[in-house]
Amino acid sequence: MRALRWHGTRTAAVADDIAMPRIEEPRDAVVRVVRSAICGTDLHPFRGEIDAFTPGTVTGHEFTGVVEEAGPEARGLRPGDRVVASDIIACGHCRSCRRGWHYQCDRVGLFGYSTVVGTRAYDGGHSEYVRVPFADTVLFPIPDDVGDERALFIGDVLATGYACAVGAEVRPGATVAVVGCGPVGLLALEAAWVLGAARVLAIDPLESRRKLAAERGACPVPATPDVDQQVADLTDGRGTDAVLEAVGTDAALLTALDVVRPRGTVCAVGAHASEAMPLPTRLAFAKEITLRFAVGDPISDFEPLMNLVRAGRVDPTFLISHRMPLAEAAEGFRLFDSGEASKVVLIP
Ligand SMILES: [Zn+2]
Ligand SMILES: [Zn+2]
Repeated sequence: MRALRWHGTRTAAVADDIAMPRIEEPRDAVVRVVRSAICGTDLHPFRGEIDAFTPGTVTGHEFTGVVEEAGPEARGLRPGDRVVASDIIACGHCRSCRRGWHYQCDRVGLFGYSTVVGTRAYDGGHSEYVRVPFADTVLFPIPDDVGDERALFIGDVLATGYACAVGAEVRPGATVAVVGCGPVGLLALEAAWVLGAARVLAIDPLESRRKLAAERGACPVPATPDVDQQVADLTDGRGTDAVLEAVGTDAALLTALDVVRPRGTVCAVGAHASEAMPLPTRLAFAKEITLRFAVGDPISDFEPLMNLVRAGRVDPTFLISHRMPLAEAAEGFRLFDSGEASKVVLIP
């Protein structure tokens, strides 16, 4: 079968001679992929930023498809079922899973991400077929009246954006700032509207991204050194009630802490990786800020998210700038890496 494999920094190639995945454990399923997407998270190994990434990995953790084969204990799944996968692999049975904390699962994993998350590597969705472990927990049915592309992002970026808005305690009437208007930030913005935000300020250094946010009803704010002053001017000097941080750098988090109002809440869903950062605790204490980190949980939040998508209250397909055959996946990475594409969907 055909799949994209990562071989090293900015080196990924499609091959046609990759072994078909098969059922290895009773709760496995094998899914024939219908749509997959390239995520910002995939750019970290692509750019060579993760030393431990294993060459030969089939990447991709956002995908939909059709169940080809289901193991004897993959309850509720049958060949022919249309499904969307959670990016997070979780057992569904351990203490953390029972609490609905799937990223804290004892056996957590991430499709197509080597052993960066958890201890086991699983090949991903930039492929014609994928083996899905714990399939009765990890896969969710797509209703007949919902197309694959509308369902696709529930498995990752929509769930992450939604967790960000919920984590920042966006309330009806709130003024919200989104820091970073990539796919996750834009879907955090959509989630803020769903939760009743009255106003959203969209902070990003790139004009193209600010334009996308403005098209979704946000007030664009350039991420310049005086961004805190700009936000102050736009909020009668108060700052915003909630800040949704979707970048994952120290600078973005410092901006979030700067622009939030006293007693406001910051939720960070950018993939932070600093061992230490200069947290301005004097400011955080004086403003009595609540700071929360979240990863996003498509397994726990599938139902509310599918309801929003099905009802048309959120249509994440606006993100998609490029649709390409899987055979051209390496070019898709190049376009996404260079910023020419805002979101690439691959079609096997
Ligand atoms: Zn992702
Ligand atoms: Zn678990």
